[in-house]
Amino acid sequence: MKKPKIREIKEAVTALLKGPYTVPFPYVSHKPFPGFRGAAKYFEEDCVGCGACAMVCPTGTIEIKDIVDKEKGTGKRILTLYYKNCEFCAFCEECCITGKGVRLSQEFDLSTFDKESVFTRVEKELALCEICGEVVTAWDHLKWLGEKLGPLAYTNPGVITSTHLDIEAIKEKTPRGELRWRFDQMRVLCPKHRREVYRIEERPK
Ligand code: SF4
Ligand code: SF4
Repeated sequence: MKKPKIREIKEAVTALLKGPYTVPFPYVSHKPFPGFRGAAKYFEEDCVGCGACAMVCPTGTIEIKDIVDKEKGTGKRILTLYYKNCEFCAFCEECCITGKGVRLSQEFDLSTFDKESVFTRVEKELALCEICGEVVTAWDHLKWLGEKLGPLAYTNPGVITSTHLDIEAIKEKTPRGELRWRFDQMRVLCPKHRREVYRIEERPK
């Protein structure tokens, strides 16, 4: 019984002389060790808006919202990663198709009374089907695919079109609802109208 008491006294004296073992956070800022997995952040310039991070997130804390104005033919995709359910597994970073669209930072101090107020967000312009206005994907995603595929992108008219948007003839739109063979092959189309445009020639005259 005596031995532990002597050890406790020794520890108390050491603590008195050396100070507490605990870190003085929050009075002194804490620097996490390299490789520490803190709050994930989106990087607008490196994210292409594909949504893969949301698909792989094990807790489903990444929300994808597509806002489409079919009349104007415009839309935007909003990706929001809420920290409230994030478990800092870094799976989103690992599976990001560009490898750097979402990255975990060293930030750890996320205490709040309002869990909805802590998040990271990115917005991307959407590419819509030029016939029906359905969401195809984000423009940046199509452009990224085109660059990645190089000459192989010519096998997919939607992808190759997105890499040539500076050409006037490509900017010119077909009136919605109207599908014309050949001309419409070189358009951004949803899977349904992509199938239709290839089958149009086989229709009975
Ligand atoms: S770190 Fe893990 S839990 Fe958090 S958003 Fe990324 S995939 Fe989801
Ligand atoms: S590019 Fe990366 S960060 Fe952006 S939506 Fe795709 S997987 Fe997520």
